[in-house]
Amino acid sequence: MNDFEHTSAASAADALAKLGGAPSALGTSYPAAPARFIAGGTDLIPLMHDHLAAPTRLIDLKPAHDLRGVRLAADGALAIGALTTLTDIERDPAVAERAPILIEAVREAATPQLRAMATIGGNLLQRTRCWYFRGETRCWLKGGDTCYARAGRSDHHAILGTDSSPCIAVHPSDLAPALVALDARVAISGPRGTHAVPVADLLQPPTADRRVEHTLAPDELITAIEIPPQPAGARGVYLKAMERAAWSFALASAAVQLALRDGRVDHIRIVLGGVAPTPWRAVDAERLLIGQPLTPALATQAAERALASASPFDHNAYKLPLARALVRRAVLGASAMESEGA
Ligand SMILES: Cc1cc2nc3c(=O)[nH]c(=O)nc-3n(C[C@H](O)[C@H](O)[C@H](O)COP(=O)(O)OP(=O)(O)OC[C@H]3O[C@@H](n4cnc5c(N)ncnc54)[C@H](O)[C@@H]3O)c2cc1C
Repeated sequence: MNDFEHTSAASAADALAKLGGAPSALGTSYPAAPARFIAGGTDLIPLMHDHLAAPTRLIDLKPAHDLRGVRLAADGALAIGALTTLTDIERDPAVAERAPILIEAVREAATPQLRAMATIGGNLLQRTRCWYFRGETRCWLKGGDTCYARAGRSDHHAILGTDSSPCIAVHPSDLAPALVALDARVAISGPRGTHAVPVADLLQPPTADRRVEHTLAPDELITAIEIPPQPAGARGVYLKAMERAAWSFALASAAVQLALRDGRVDHIRIVLGGVAPTPWRAVDAERLLIGQPLTPALATQAAERALASASPFDHNAYKLPLARALVRRAVLGASAMESEGA
């Protein structure tokens, strides 16, 4: 680990002011940025330890109380401060009532000890767990020429969206698919002002000019995650398949948020995790279901369609039936129908 200076931010504004004071924070590509925010530190510290990040200044967000906590607006919208820990989200009554799918996703993430430290902002910005990226090789994402997983060990890698991404590592967050299913947005502050973007736009495949899995600029701060009011009667289900029951990232996951009206699907979001470089919204499968009375047979068709464009590599074809089964079970579960023989 390289030497670094540590400074604390008393508020969001203070954090941005301290970032602005760092030499050449602006315009530097994200992984190499000399100044970085640190929240729970559960990803950034291991990255620094393994020389995958080398900031010379850490701006500690933990004292910034304006970045912490859940606010419920009169219309039912939720704003979750970026520094809110996964444990605090898990225990929050407003989240439990308005966005229970997020609580299901949080409970599937990491361990109780990690959830007590990890924050929602840091969870979205965590780096991929790809073993080539985390290991010694200078893979494409680390500035090299080759994504070694394509011809190498692809067991945990993407089966969807691999044509449009030079890197086939999957996004590791459990919260991200649930947040995309909730149409959540990320509130961002920086020297160019404040704005909000859908979580789906924040989490984008890396490009040659931006070898990082998100579009946040190095001089920007996530201040909150905003969840709009959900359609009447909407129910959500998050299902995750893992190699072990705990402390394990998703091999595949499915987040489904669904509302029925007069027995027909009136609102549906199907988002897959662990199978693409980003949370993967299965728009074609959603189209199949909208306006239809939901049946187990239709849920099976939707699951087929959700994976229709998948192209597995040598070691990850197992993800296809796994993800299909999760989608089917989550769709039926969100509609309160029992899944048979998934
Ligand atoms: C053993 C282990 C198992 C895990 N299992 C899972 C799992 O099953 N599911 C899952 O979803 N996650 C899992 N995780 C990941 C864990 O959830 C993340 O490490 C954590 O959520 C990151 O949050 P943090 O607050 O610690 O972020 P930090 O490590 O502090 O920061 C991560 C990144 O976000 C940036 N950042 C943080 N906050 C902000 C902000 N407000 N604005 C701008 N930039 C910011 C930092 O600069 C850094 O680049 C696991 C982690 C470990 C170590």
